[in-house]
Amino acid sequence: MQHQEKLKNLASEVKEKARAKEPVTFRKKSVSHTVPDPKDPRFKKKKIDLSSFDQILEIDPEKKICRAESGITFYDLVQATLKHNLIPMTVPELKTITIGGAVSGCSVESMSFKYGGFHDSCLEYEVVTGTGEVMHCSPEKNNHLFEAMHNSFGTLAILTSLTFKLIPAKSFVKMEYVSKDNVGDYWQFLKERIDERDYDFIDGIVYDKNTFVVCLGNMVDTAPALSSYSGENIFHRSVVNLQTDYMTLAEYFFRYDADCHWLTNAIPPLTWKPIRKTLGKYFLGSTNLIKWSKRLRHALKMKKRPDVVVDVFIPHENFEKFYEWYEKEFDFYPLWIVPYRYNQPYPFVDDDFAKGMSSENLIIDFAIYGKANNQPDIDYSEILEDKVYELNGIKTLISRNHYSPERFWKIYSKERYSAAKSQLDPDGLFADIYTKFHNRTS
Ligand SMILES: Cc1cc2nc3c(=O)[nH]c(=O)nc-3n(C[C@H](O)[C@H](O)[C@H](O)COP(=O)(O)OP(=O)(O)OC[C@H]3O[C@@H](n4cnc5c(N)ncnc54)[C@H](O)[C@@H]3O)c2cc1C
Repeated sequence: MQHQEKLKNLASEVKEKARAKEPVTFRKKSVSHTVPDPKDPRFKKKKIDLSSFDQILEIDPEKKICRAESGITFYDLVQATLKHNLIPMTVPELKTITIGGAVSGCSVESMSFKYGGFHDSCLEYEVVTGTGEVMHCSPEKNNHLFEAMHNSFGTLAILTSLTFKLIPAKSFVKMEYVSKDNVGDYWQFLKERIDERDYDFIDGIVYDKNTFVVCLGNMVDTAPALSSYSGENIFHRSVVNLQTDYMTLAEYFFRYDADCHWLTNAIPPLTWKPIRKTLGKYFLGSTNLIKWSKRLRHALKMKKRPDVVVDVFIPHENFEKFYEWYEKEFDFYPLWIVPYRYNQPYPFVDDDFAKGMSSENLIIDFAIYGKANNQPDIDYSEILEDKVYELNGIKTLISRNHYSPERFWKIYSKERYSAAKSQLDPDGLFADIYTKFHNRTS
């Protein structure tokens, strides 16, 4: 089916649902990277099927611009752009995150210290509104709606296609791993690298209280030998044992995918080489792992609470303060560190809250993937949310949220969100953002 035909069909389906006043959510072809909470009533909502929206519509190698449907995965996108020696400016590390999901939710990766999130490279969105109208928005046209789509989590309109910038690529990545034994030296070294911009890629992994590693990468044209981390070998374990490493660029982008960062640590046999060799194709990879966790979600109800899986953005000024609290209260490793610079405060953030964030528009993503949360008297997700708020940071909405409406709307701009909602989804076909993330059965 051609894009225009898909768009027409989607618009009429949305109109039908709007007439029937049936609140909806939607389903893409690839898995969702929001954390399954077995008690979430969203699982029962009617779904609009977006699975056919997964094609590239155009790559213009001269202008270095791509137009693609919202459900294309970053893996497929990178395969296509690399044929022109080009890549997107932000490539989330899990293969099946989609470009629509990256804009509607969040996207952070090792180029974010230069380019911010994927939405920062976008030039235009095509959307289907909650009343079934097709609209185009860009920095020049309907700018406030263009800005509102970032972090809207499917609550304003459906993104159907996106136009975005590409940058030149080389074939390989040379990695250098620099280890520090205390948080002060680590932060100083990391900040210097961020400011100097002397590498193409920067992220980090904290392994324990004494092992802090910065992972630095540069694109190169040749490589003496290549590593692969999509099968038996585990990327995050290689980092502590090596000082340098080489990968193809595509291998580098998805280096964390096989283990969904390190969620496999919770199931030790999945980290054993013979098991990875024989059963890897059924269990390894973020898509397999997320599908399994969804299949097992009824069993997971046995757990008091889901594990903590969340990214939190901390103003860089509070890096050490947050880490020291984390070490004392969470003491859970590995911990993924991703520097993220933005040009100006994002419009989804309330103006007063934004003033208290980073003076240099530099935040650090602390990604906590898999902390068990079963203690009777302490909910780690909740104390994390409180601490992040206290330090003027932002907890992404991808897993459990505990905010009162008052606190939520101190962080998020109610004025701008409501203005976009009344224009894009006046009859409330999609849940509003506060309800979507707080309306749980318990
Ligand atoms: C375990 C885990 C690891 C992660 N690792 C990374 C990482 O390495 N790098 C990174 O950048 N991010 C990471 N994330 C965060 C992830 O990028 C975001 O959650 C992102 O929003 C997921 O996009 P998706 O394509 O999977 O969409 P989904 O998870 O399906 O959807 C995310 C939100 O966007 C909305 N949405 C999706 N498609 C559309 C559309 N077409 N139009 C309107 N709204 C839409 C959905 O309604 C939903 O609210 C991780 C998340 C998890 C749970």
